[in-house]
Amino acid sequence: MMAEPTKDAENVTPEKAFSLLGNETRVAIIQVLGEESDPLSFSAVRERVGTRDSGQFNYHLTKLVGSFVRRTDEGYELSYAGHRIVGAIHSGTYRRGDRMNFDLDSTCTVCETTIKATYENERVTVRCPGCETRLSEFGFPPGGFENRTITELTQVFGQYVDGIFSFMLRGICLNCSGKTVGKLIEETERIDDDAPAYVEVACDQCGETTTSHVNGYLLHHPVVASFHYDHGIDLDRSELWNLDLYRNESLTLLSSDPLSVGSTIELDGDRLELVINEDLSVSIETEQ
Ligand SMILES: [Zn+2]
Ligand SMILES: [Zn+2]
Repeated sequence: MMAEPTKDAENVTPEKAFSLLGNETRVAIIQVLGEESDPLSFSAVRERVGTRDSGQFNYHLTKLVGSFVRRTDEGYELSYAGHRIVGAIHSGTYRRGDRMNFDLDSTCTVCETTIKATYENERVTVRCPGCETRLSEFGFPPGGFENRTITELTQVFGQYVDGIFSFMLRGICLNCSGKTVGKLIEETERIDDDAPAYVEVACDQCGETTTSHVNGYLLHHPVVASFHYDHGIDLDRSELWNLDLYRNESLTLLSSDPLSVGSTIELDGDRLELVINEDLSVSIETEQ
């Protein structure tokens, strides 16, 4: 069934859309609709929001129709933008302390000290206190702390950062769904070691950027995944920070212009030698 075009479908500018949210009743309407998967009638929404004055309530609800709320024959429901607002409200909710420290269930592959994560200013920093290496730093929404134990959180950090990177590598921005492009870069302020290159994936549309070790990128390559699998390591089920490959010891600079690096992965005496080019294409040099 095709939806009939209505005046609800008019374009709403970002300025107008966000100004619509500057009202308690309207935010409450969005939250109430976000709790239901089925459309709600006018009176059901009004009852749950708790506004006595029907005219006043109608005024606010009507303001939202066409941007965050859709009116259907069955009642009112959230539009995609409305669902994203509910997500933004939840992901911004944080009721614990400002700074938290975690011992991760991983040891440093260089000095065998237990790796730690610190949460501060809505960012997670993963580092080894033994050799003072910062392994990763990334934004993590406060809402991710809700209903999770400390143990669950320590597992979620690695999965979260790996999941974001995987999504961005597939050409989709996690922030705005715009097109992303990845490449090798020589330097980054986000990781403090002296690797010859890093992988950066950026969104043209909103500027979201994610940076990784080259070997962190290789973990997503099918040849690398199958090489590990053949040696009894399922990368999907491994703690990211525990993997030897996550660190840069095996990287060598092959060319500065265009940038390319070599990576050697060794497992049980077997070697996989790869070349990673500036455009992130990967070729296999040796597999033995
Ligand atoms: Zn260390
Ligand atoms: Zn984007």
